[in-house]
Amino acid sequence: MRPAALDPLFAPLTTLKGIGPKLERPFARLLGAETPRVVDLLFHMPSGFVDRRSRPTIAAAVPETDVTLEVRVDGHQPPPPGSRSPHRTFVSDPSGDLVIAHFKMDPAFLERLLPVGATRWLCGRITLYDGMRQMTHPDRILDAAGLARLPPIEPVYPLVEGLSGGQVRRAIAAALDGVPTLGEPVPGGILAAEGWPDLKTALRRVHQPSEIADISVTGAAWQRLAFQELFAHQIALGLVRVRQAEIGGRATRGDGRLAEAVRLSLPFALTRSQESAVAAIRADIASDRRMLRLLQGDVGSGKTVVGLLAAALVIEAGRQAALMAPTEVLARQHYDTIAPLAARAGIATAILTGREKGRARAAILDDLAAGRTGLLVGTHAVIQPDVAFADLALAIIDEQHRFGVEQRLALTRKGEAADMLLMTATPIPRTLVLTLFGDMAVCELREKPPGRQAIDTRTVSLERLGEVIEAIGRALEAGAQVYWICPLVDESDASDLAAATERHAMLAARFGRRVDLVHGRLSGTQKDAAMARFAAGETGILVATTVVEVGVNVPNATLMVIEHAERFGLSQLHQLRGRVGRGDKPSTCLLLYRGPLGETAKARLAMLRASDDGFAIAEEDLRLRGEGDVLGTRQSGFPGFDLARLDMHGPLLDTARAAAAVLLARDPHLSAPDSAAARTLLYLHKRDAAMRLLSAG
Ligand code: ADP
Ligand code: MG
Repeated sequence: MRPAALDPLFAPLTTLKGIGPKLERPFARLLGAETPRVVDLLFHMPSGFVDRRSRPTIAAAVPETDVTLEVRVDGHQPPPPGSRSPHRTFVSDPSGDLVIAHFKMDPAFLERLLPVGATRWLCGRITLYDGMRQMTHPDRILDAAGLARLPPIEPVYPLVEGLSGGQVRRAIAAALDGVPTLGEPVPGGILAAEGWPDLKTALRRVHQPSEIADISVTGAAWQRLAFQELFAHQIALGLVRVRQAEIGGRATRGDGRLAEAVRLSLPFALTRSQESAVAAIRADIASDRRMLRLLQGDVGSGKTVVGLLAAALVIEAGRQAALMAPTEVLARQHYDTIAPLAARAGIATAILTGREKGRARAAILDDLAAGRTGLLVGTHAVIQPDVAFADLALAIIDEQHRFGVEQRLALTRKGEAADMLLMTATPIPRTLVLTLFGDMAVCELREKPPGRQAIDTRTVSLERLGEVIEAIGRALEAGAQVYWICPLVDESDASDLAAATERHAMLAARFGRRVDLVHGRLSGTQKDAAMARFAAGETGILVATTVVEVGVNVPNATLMVIEHAERFGLSQLHQLRGRVGRGDKPSTCLLLYRGPLGETAKARLAMLRASDDGFAIAEEDLRLRGEGDVLGTRQSGFPGFDLARLDMHGPLLDTARAAAAVLLARDPHLSAPDSAAARTLLYLHKRDAAMRLLSAG
């Protein structure tokens, strides 16, 4: 049970003054939560700030820097009717004068806002225009009362459409007023040594800074917040380890017969890194400790085969394996790859997704419970309560980050001390593996299978859409297939879906029935049918939202067009690009963007053009993203951390690990009364699944 002290923080955002049902939706998108809670908002960190303390005279103001000017309003000059020129307001101070320019604004409104003869304070940046000092659309126009309320340093937040910075700041101010005083989870020695404030003070300083150190990512306030989040994460990892050690493992040793048969049925030789991954997994499975291993491999590096060989190792010992994938499409694809190989090796496989129903499903469950099925491939359907194995020894989880801890554990719990193999195609920089996974064993598939061709990646402005369409025409004529990706930032966002539908219609008008469309709102059956038509070559162009992001394998597809590339994370683009270049023909990836691009966006796309190494791209993504995600989205990169910026707060990690170890050495189940603050911390940072794990047998 969540400690009652946290109730105000876990209340829906709509309980805050000023946030009604209408604002809830944009906040939900901003915070990436269906029903956003107060804590989600408090953990929405600034991406920058504006210093309002600089108060020069007009003459002394440095152009292009943020200033607050005290001025007298001298007069107005509305634009002539029908003209595109701005409304000009003339203002001055004893040092000089300045023109305020407002485009497309009601002159009457501006004359009320800036009455002639009055004193006003303007926040913004001045530029020199035709030798005149000008301020275009000031950030703020204040009277004396407004000035008194002006924060000295104003945080800037990532935003979404439909929300202004002011709305976010006001909501956060309301949230800050309700932060309860909680027990201090950070060990006193660390607090004292670092000089960190308590939680409430730290939140207030970051969101309502009075000096730059308050809002700085490396300042004491933010460091404290980052530390407590890393601490919570380390405690949760520690609890999982305690649990693993308590249940122990089971040694599984086969005779090598099936693994050998699988190898013989492969049309290729394993790469060196596949070989060493299989060897590491074999050793883990044979040991009587429980395996918890992460198999990292860039797209196309051949993880599926490693998974199949791992399964063979337990099946030849008379036990069972399960492979769980996050989507129907992926589960089917794994199954289609695995089933023929497994059949040749004499391994009985089955698939279980939401689509197996009634008698067919009952038969699958029967075979599974009787031990007739060696390997079960499926979606979340495999963790339904009535799915029982005869003796599950190995749980393989593909695209592990798409599952919650509880779902992953639910699968292992279907076996007795089952080993767990997590797979991911999201390259995680080495510096971060430790943070995210603690001392989980990791193996990497660094090399690509031989014979792959480099993908020619180019950035193209959307203005050149016509040329892109021509290129598609040529590719189709040459017998190639084409992916066309439209971004779908939010599955429920109708406008994104409309964009994909519209693009589909436009391409269909040109290329006819060879154009197909697949998106998240289609049913599993519809999606699979569309994917199957594409894989079979019945369709030539597949317009898709990011459902093809992971794992999909159509070797004949050699052209990938990604629309609005600037909206995707780098690693995500790399993943998408990995859908082509899977056969032996040269492939091309066109990144369509809507200009003009900012510096960071340019650098990101350039990186992608220059590199084909998912790990290098991930490192660079992290560096470029730094403290402020330019796009304001939270979905790319490393899920699960709200406060800690892994590039900036890495140095805190060792301390957090050590502190968690001390805590758990004293109280391994976190059950002692004086562990209350640490228990609360786990809930606060949504790591409480680790606690339930200890109580759930
Ligand atoms: P991913 O790591 O992205 O899941 P897959 O497992 O889908 O990659 O493998 C991508 C493709 O490479 C598949 O067609 C697979 O059969 C093939 N493949 C895997 N290992 C090798 C290898 N050692 N040599 C040649 N092709 C391989
Ligand atoms: Mg895969």
